[in-house]
Amino acid sequence: MSQSSSISIKCPSCGREQEFTTWSSINVSLNPEKKNELRNGSLNRFTCESCSESSEVNYPVLYHDPDKKFMVWLNGEDADIRGLMAGDFLDEYHLRLVNSRNHLVEKTHVLEMGLDDRLLELFKVSMRMGDKSIPEGDLLFAGVGSGQNDLKELQFAVVSEKETKFIGAGFKAFEEFAVTFQPMLEAEPLEAAKWVQVDQAYAKALLQRHLPQNSD
Ligand SMILES: [Zn+2]
Repeated sequence: MSQSSSISIKCPSCGREQEFTTWSSINVSLNPEKKNELRNGSLNRFTCESCSESSEVNYPVLYHDPDKKFMVWLNGEDADIRGLMAGDFLDEYHLRLVNSRNHLVEKTHVLEMGLDDRLLELFKVSMRMGDKSIPEGDLLFAGVGSGQNDLKELQFAVVSEKETKFIGAGFKAFEEFAVTFQPMLEAEPLEAAKWVQVDQAYAKALLQRHLPQNSD
C-alpha cells in the first residue's frame, strides 16, 4: 500500500502557505506511476500556486518493490525502522537505507536490475581510483545500455552542484571485477532482515578491512 498525507508548506519565495502531498511509502507494484514521479523529481517538487517558484521538498519515503523484493528507505529514522516492520517475509528482502533522493533512485535502478549493490559500490570505488578523468560529483548508477561499438555498458550519472554528466563502463569489465571481488562479499554476508546503508563509505570500509594496503 502507498501512503500519503498533506502538509502545509510556506513558499520560500513569497511566503504563501499551501498544501503539499507527501508520500511516506510508495508501493511501486500497486502504484507504478509513483516510481516515475520519484525518478523525474515530481514527487518531491513543490510549485507555488501563487508565484510559481519551485523547490525540492525532502521527506522520509519508504520505497517498496514487492515483485523484486526490496525496500529502500530514504531518511528513515531508527525508531521507525525498529517499530514498523517485522516478519519472516523480510528475510527474502534487500533492505537498504539511503539519505538522498538521488541515492534512492540509484538504489532502485540497481536492485530492480538484480545487480548486487555491494559489488556495484566497490566497482564505483575502483572506477574512481582507475580513472582520474571522471568529473567531481556523486557517481550514480543509472542503468545498463549500449555504448561505443554497441558494447553493453553500465551507465552512470556524475552529479555535481553545477551539472550532471554521463559516463559508461564496460559490462565485461564489471563481470570480471565481480569474479575477483565476490570472495570479499562472501566473507561478510549480510544479515537477513537487517537494514543497511550500502554506499561508497560502506565499500571503502570493506576494502580497508580486506585490502588495507590498497586503500587511501
Ligand atoms: Zn510563492
